[in-house]
Order: sequence, then C-alpha cells, then structure tokens
Amino acid sequence: MPTLLRTKRDGGSLTGAEWRALVEGYTRGDIPDYQMAALAMAVFFRGATPEETAALTLAMRDSGRVVPRGTFLAGRTVDKHSTGGVGDKVSLPLAPIAAACGLAVPMITGRGLGHTGGTADKLESIPGFRVRLSFDELREVVGSVGCALAAQSEDLAPADLRLYALRDVTATVESIPLITASILSKKLAEGLDALVMDVKVGRGAFMPTLESARALADSLCTVGAAAGTEVRALLTRMDVPLGRTIGNALEVREAVALLEGEVRGPLLDCTVALACEMLVAVGAGAEEAERLVLDAIGSGRARARFDALVAAQGGDPKALRDACAGLPHADVTVLEATEDGFVQDLDALRLGVEAMRLGAGRNRKEDAIDPAVGLELAVDVGDAVVRGAPLVRVHHRGALDPARRAGIEAGIHLAATAPPSLPHVVIERRRATPV
Ligand code: URA
Repeated sequence: MPTLLRTKRDGGSLTGAEWRALVEGYTRGDIPDYQMAALAMAVFFRGATPEETAALTLAMRDSGRVVPRGTFLAGRTVDKHSTGGVGDKVSLPLAPIAAACGLAVPMITGRGLGHTGGTADKLESIPGFRVRLSFDELREVVGSVGCALAAQSEDLAPADLRLYALRDVTATVESIPLITASILSKKLAEGLDALVMDVKVGRGAFMPTLESARALADSLCTVGAAAGTEVRALLTRMDVPLGRTIGNALEVREAVALLEGEVRGPLLDCTVALACEMLVAVGAGAEEAERLVLDAIGSGRARARFDALVAAQGGDPKALRDACAGLPHADVTVLEATEDGFVQDLDALRLGVEAMRLGAGRNRKEDAIDPAVGLELAVDVGDAVVRGAPLVRVHHRGALDPARRAGIEAGIHLAATAPPSLPHVVIERRRATPV
C-alpha cells in the first residue's frame, strides 16, 4: 500500500490490476480507512488518467452484485442521475413519467448532504415509504410499476458506499475521477441499457463553472462508453433553485403538482428534457419522445404510476391527495418585500444552506432531518413585486431564528429594474458512443 500511495502521490499511474486489488482489499476491510483516505487525497490533487478512472469504476462496480442486462426490461432499462442541486426534485416525477412511456427505471437514489437535497430523504417524508429495498423487492417493484426509487444498499457497489462516506469526511468529494467512479459504479451495476446524467452547473452545484461541468460530463460519458453503456449528459443550470420549493415534504408536493400538470418553467423543462433524453437513448426519435412524455403527464398516467410506486414501496398514496394534505407540516412565516421592484436574483447556494439550517438537510451524516421544514418561494426571477407582497413562505419549527430570516432575505435580491430573462435550463448535451 505505501508503494502504491507513493506512486499516486508523485503523479504516477496505477495499473488496472492494482486498482482492482485496492478496491477488493478495501471492500474486504483489509485496507484501512486511513490508507484509502490518503489515496483519495492523492487522486484529488494528482488526478487519474481516463484508463485509471475506468479501472477504478469497474473494480467498484464489481465489488457487489452486478445485475445482467435484460434483468428488468431488455433494451429499455434506463436510469437518470443528478450530480446534486438545490430544489432538485426531478427524480420524483421523472421515474413515473419514464415508466409511463414504457421504460423500466430501477433508480438508485441518494441522501442529501450539505446544501443539496437527496431523493431518498424526500421520499421518506411520505408516511410509510420505504427506500430500503432488497434486490428482489427492487425487481418486484420495477416489474409491477415500471420504476422503483430505492436507496443504495450493500448489494450494489458496496465499495462506493464506504468510499463515499470516507470522501465526505476527508474533503475529497470534488474530484472528477472519484465522482465518475462513484456514480458509475452503482449505475453500471444496475444492468442498464443507458444512463442519462444531469450535470448541474452554477453556484448551487458541485461544479460551479461550465468548464468543470463539461469535464465531469465527458468523464462520465467516456468511462460509461468504455464499459459498454450509453451515458448521455445534460448540463443544466443551478444558479437559482429548481422550482419553487426547497425541503423534503415541500418538494414532494411540488413533484406531485408537476405530475398533475400544474407546474411550468425550468422544473418542468428540465424534467421533460431528461425524460426525452432517456427515451432517445434507447432509440426513440426526438419528436416522438416529447409527444410521449407530454402525453404521460397530460393523461394522468404518470401521476397514477407515482401513486402505484408509493403504494408498492409501503407509502400511503392517500397522503398525496388534496394538495398532499397528508404530508408533514410545520409553522409558517411569510417574508414580504420591503420595497417595490423586481426579483433580480434567487441565490441557490444561500437558500439551500438556509433550508438545511432550518433542518431540511444534514450537517453531519448522522443528523436527523425534519421532513416538514424548508422554503416555498412565492416569486420567480424577473417578477415585479410591490412592498408587502409575499416573497417566501418559511416552514420552520418554533420561533423563526432572526439569523435564518436574515440569511433567507440575503438570498432574495430585489432591484428597481427588471433583470434579463433567464436562459433555458438546459445548457448543452454531451455524449460518447459505447465501444
Ligand atoms: N454523487 C455520487 O453518487 N457520488 C459522488 O461522488 C458525487 C455525487
């Protein structure tokens, strides 16, 4: 191990066999966390070649069960993964939309950490919902509903479960080779025909610049292609929160509203673009894909799939009736505009951090989250407001801490003139053809 560490520390490359031995040793518990942490830090600073990234990814994929292609639905098994953002509840409506369009979607979802939310936490705000599924349960739910939304288990890519937790506490998350291996190891283990990546770009994302987001997208696409799976990436904006809500139960409500045809703007555009990309990745034409996706929403079939998914995973679909009245509630304080003007900016990072501090996210992995708290924006960028108009409904427990109020207000910028309109949420597409 010290020899391998020295090689990476000094900027050298490890062979495929060395990466495999490392991952196998770590998964078995023979290599301790402190040596793996040193390796992660060496990769963080020195990088890894595309060949090394591919070798690490495949070794991590093979650390657990690798589901053969065709296990779910031959030729039409597709998943989507986001690199994480603020208000990003896209997976909730997307999985049932894609299932209603005839795809099988065995989606492995993550927990929120820091200022970004996680789909598994959002789902757990639905009374009774179980995100921990055994592999047999996952297969059963996908078989009956067309999609499942499950948390990562020890079954698939256990090396990633351990390594991700270690990176999280050693400041080694933001490394393109390590993110690539982490995401693709679990996704390539699902037996997918294609994977669509939502690579978030902007101040509320892991990759703040277009350049870094492109590099991550290209790494994901090429390593996926080298492993024989089509990976397509959409680069999407994450400067302002996606949609109007930040916080777990609040985001489930907005996801249900989208499935009921009541949401417009970037959240709908992003969801539709990703769903279309999933269909196109397995052979649909672009126009056909859009027609299928809009019909799945407009006909109510995607909403019905979501109810079926919730019931199949132990949740109570009745909680989602009447504007989701059965989801948890907290106290509400409305923050109002103190002057007339236009909403110039909504700062995703600040608002995400404030929602987390209200209890919607975690500071440390073991922290409990409060499903009911968060932010519900009453305005979009560009809206004209008059003094006293509501800007945001803050869902909180007890008295609203003045520091939270100030932080939230600092994330909503008003100005006398209207800002330029925001560009489309999808910035560009990247892909690589499987070898
Ligand atoms: N999401 C993952 O699953 N892994 C990472 O390393 C980063 C984001």
